Amino acid sequence: MNTYDTVVLLLGDSGKDSWSRSEILDILSSELRIEKKDANSRFTNAEKRSDFFEKISDTPAKYKFTRSGKSHYDTIKRLYAANDGFRNNLRLFLDMDFGPKCYWDDLQNLQSELLVVDYLHLQEGMPEVAENLLKSPGETLESLNKALASLAIIAGIDFAPKISIINAGDVLQIEEIKTKHLGRFLHVEGRVVVQTMPKSKLILGAYQCLRCDRVMTIPQYAYGVRTEPFECENEICTRRGPFRLLDPPDSEFIDYQDIVIVAMKGEVTIKIHLTESLCQPPWIRDAKVIRVCGTMLKVDTISKQGTKMNSFDWVIEANSIVMAEDTNTEPPSEDEIRLFQEWAKNPDELRRMIVDSIAPNVHGLRPCKDACSLSLFSDWHWKDDPRSIVERSSIHVCLFGDPGTAKSMIAKDVVYLAPKGKWGQIINMSRGGLTTVALQENGEWHIRSGFFSQGDQGITGLVSCQASISNK
Ligand SMILES: [Zn+2]
Repeated sequence: MNTYDTVVLLLGDSGKDSWSRSEILDILSSELRIEKKDANSRFTNAEKRSDFFEKISDTPAKYKFTRSGKSHYDTIKRLYAANDGFRNNLRLFLDMDFGPKCYWDDLQNLQSELLVVDYLHLQEGMPEVAENLLKSPGETLESLNKALASLAIIAGIDFAPKISIINAGDVLQIEEIKTKHLGRFLHVEGRVVVQTMPKSKLILGAYQCLRCDRVMTIPQYAYGVRTEPFECENEICTRRGPFRLLDPPDSEFIDYQDIVIVAMKGEVTIKIHLTESLCQPPWIRDAKVIRVCGTMLKVDTISKQGTKMNSFDWVIEANSIVMAEDTNTEPPSEDEIRLFQEWAKNPDELRRMIVDSIAPNVHGLRPCKDACSLSLFSDWHWKDDPRSIVERSSIHVCLFGDPGTAKSMIAKDVVYLAPKGKWGQIINMSRGGLTTVALQENGEWHIRSGFFSQGDQGITGLVSCQASISNK
């Protein structure tokens, strides 16, 4: 497909046999919502570089389809006829105005291969599709993408974009995911704790029989092992191999990456499968909170003996990823700001209030609470260095003392009070568990984010440091 198709399609759809130059510019500029000057250059290109048009008179300039132009129009038309109603609905939806947002404009200026669509808008513009998406995401996304691909030609972009839906319904917490969600389109939130490197995955394998050179294409499963031909499909050969996997463009590969996100409350995790432009280098999402919309699927679990088990792991095939706010605070209201200013007039009293608010159930230990309260005010960005190094003002506090003297209770409460905090024990943890570490498991490398990256810009509280230090 190339962009001349747009011109052929639009002129053919006008229902006329021939067009004057000004009619052509009218049709192209109104349908594509572009300037007449651009319409002119688009038609000139199509006329010069293809054999689809012929000039039938000079003054005024008039054009009609050549024989190959006419048959090309019929081909394009046939390709999209099956999908026509749906495509028209999508076109109407893309044309709708949602405040300053209009998806048709987005499509025409698309830089990446994803057209990001807000689910709330989809609910408003195509309510039935929005409802179907949640129940049978596979089919719905496929028909949306097919229709979008044909509209992309009209919009004048020369690749097939995909629809990426954000904000699909209420956010489901990871610990709430159950078997009943299998096959559904979900909207989940969590912190990225493990990431693999982006890799290639085979989706359509072209296998060549090494005895007779016949090439067979075998569609591949989304997960699990590679599928090879059972036997050569050449009737005089029919040997069972050997076969050679051909490189692109015969075989088709896509980018993929796996990440694991952990529930906001901790501990419970789920695997997310990313493809194409959703894949990113690991440092971009390390320990960040993300919201993922995608389809929940099951994948085989393989026992140590290599047999398939009767139980299945869950994986979410991501359709969109959005970075989410990491802290649970909102900016102060005007009333609160006035209150803060009032408090600021009496610093000693303010300090007493802050210290009192830390672990109020623990009596005494005021110097200890006082020290811990300082860490609540650390890690400000005083200024950004021109070399883009952040100058920080960290206040670290180390509590030591006899067991059972409420050290943990005070430290835990400080982590709880902070807008962002991470609390953990470092018993049996390597030093890598504190920072971010690259690990190799079953021959595959992945990045695991540690306590400090998860508590970045917030407070990290750790107990039993000495257990870790004395072990190493
Ligand atoms: Zn063969």
